Amino acid sequence: MLLQMDIKKRFADFELQVNCELAAGKCGVFGPSGSGKSTLMHILAGLLSPDEGRIVLDETILFDSDAGINLPPQQRRIGVVFQQAHLFPHMNVRGNLLYGWQRTAVARRQGTPEAIIEVLGLSPLLERRVTSLSGGERQRVALGRAMLACPRLILMDEPLNGLDQELKLQIIAYLDRVLTEFGMPLLFISHSLQEMELMTDEVLVLGQGTVQQHLNTDELLRPEQRGLFSNGAPSLVACS
Ligand code: ADP
Ligand code: MG
Repeated sequence: MLLQMDIKKRFADFELQVNCELAAGKCGVFGPSGSGKSTLMHILAGLLSPDEGRIVLDETILFDSDAGINLPPQQRRIGVVFQQAHLFPHMNVRGNLLYGWQRTAVARRQGTPEAIIEVLGLSPLLERRVTSLSGGERQRVALGRAMLACPRLILMDEPLNGLDQELKLQIIAYLDRVLTEFGMPLLFISHSLQEMELMTDEVLVLGQGTVQQHLNTDELLRPEQRGLFSNGAPSLVACS
């Protein structure tokens, strides 16, 4: 994928300003709480409009303030997975999974529900009510539902927060399989260095609303870089 963005968004006490290009299949946005990660995600998904700027995903202009373009979320074809899986409570797992699939034009469909259900290990859960699922199960369903809407990019905002370490690693393994198998680009947002290491190849480091660094994940993980984050460097703040 190629995601180009040059955007500004001002709130009363905070300004987000990001100008960069992300090109890897698995990109990360890393930064401490309050650095603007979720604001950026909402802007990319079309849930929040920048004050000015331009966002282009592959060939498609998602937003361009000069040209008066602002594609609504459903036309952006970006799948979103939040920390809290927002599943449809009145549908069972199968209904949730097929929701986007049934609304995707046949020509645009990628993969099959069966394949994604298989890779995510969801077959035993299909008839379950979503209210009866554990946190990890809910996140797997949310991921499957997002993928089955056949987006051109999946955005995940701290999707593993609140899960214990073992479950985290299990979901990462599922995620890895499903993304590799279906070749879907990912933008993964987190304040966890370990998750950046496991999930991404290229990272945008945000701090106080601006890009502090833009580097390969390998570089982010070098000892001298790690030190920046674990010791709470003044401009970057400690990331847990
Ligand atoms: P992160 O996801 O990195 O923790 P956020 O993007 O949620 O950071 O928030 C960044 C800053 O923007 C915070 O200071 C937050 O209070 C502020 N902010 C987020 N949304 C709004 C809003 N709708 N109105 C005013 N301020 C906001
Ligand atoms: Mg956030």
